[in-house]
Amino acid sequence: MGDTLARFLSDDGTIGAVAAVTTGLVEEARGRHATYPTATAALGRALTAALLLATTIKRDERLSLEFSGDGPLRGLLVEATPEGTARGFAYRPQTHVPPRNGKLDVGGALGAGTLCVMRVPLAGGALYRSIVPLVSGEIGVDVANYLVTSEQRPSAVGVGVLVDVDGRVEAAGGYLVQGMPGSDPERLELIARRIETAPPPTELVRTGHDPQAMLARLLDTTAGRVLDAQPVRLRCRCDDARVRRAILAMGRAEIEALRAEGHPAEVVCEFCGARYVVGIEELGALLDA
Ligand SMILES: [Zn+2]
Repeated sequence: MGDTLARFLSDDGTIGAVAAVTTGLVEEARGRHATYPTATAALGRALTAALLLATTIKRDERLSLEFSGDGPLRGLLVEATPEGTARGFAYRPQTHVPPRNGKLDVGGALGAGTLCVMRVPLAGGALYRSIVPLVSGEIGVDVANYLVTSEQRPSAVGVGVLVDVDGRVEAAGGYLVQGMPGSDPERLELIARRIETAPPPTELVRTGHDPQAMLARLLDTTAGRVLDAQPVRLRCRCDDARVRRAILAMGRAEIEALRAEGHPAEVVCEFCGARYVVGIEELGALLDA
């Protein structure tokens, strides 16, 4: 089963939901960044949350979530687009802390801090930025808290990553359920109770639920329809042109020094781990350009 995302809208338009299976995507991120289990769970939850939240932004925007904390992980930076692509990294990928209550302690690894949410217009222009304190550092509740306090939307967010004994990602996914303007509080309360008693997202994914089945399980008898299902994947925006611009931004003196020492410039993209090598001759061409 490939990674996908599915959206739901209730018949009266007052309840929106989205669910995603991200097992392959999170496993790929683990491989790229060589994360340890707690960092794998933190990064996977953040990537999944970003993909879910990105379904609520405009088509010509990009979403960025930055979690900053005083714990050993220090932070996470993830981005996602409404087209279902995501990228991101943990500040200290080799972070693993003892589990708490039998679960990977993402909140303990992240510590106390803030969540910064940004919506960046692709064509340039004013970006939207909001910073809220972390509630628990467990990612899902922090994103839900952001939605409630900053966007005044009653929301439930569940994201999870199950890491096996070898450190590989066995299951990952999540859901976001939101009350739209005009939604009936009693109905939301009913759904909230249903979500509370439902298995966690990793359990739903592990037992073979695709996003549509997850939505059916969580929303039960709520009348509505699944709007669409789309693939989600890890995709970075780095390329040769960006790398060359980054090298040029180092300044002429720095580039001259590299050339004089006979060293090619090596740039590693922190988002995806891709390694770019720009040779001596090309450095010269960059300076002459
Ligand atoms: Zn990259």
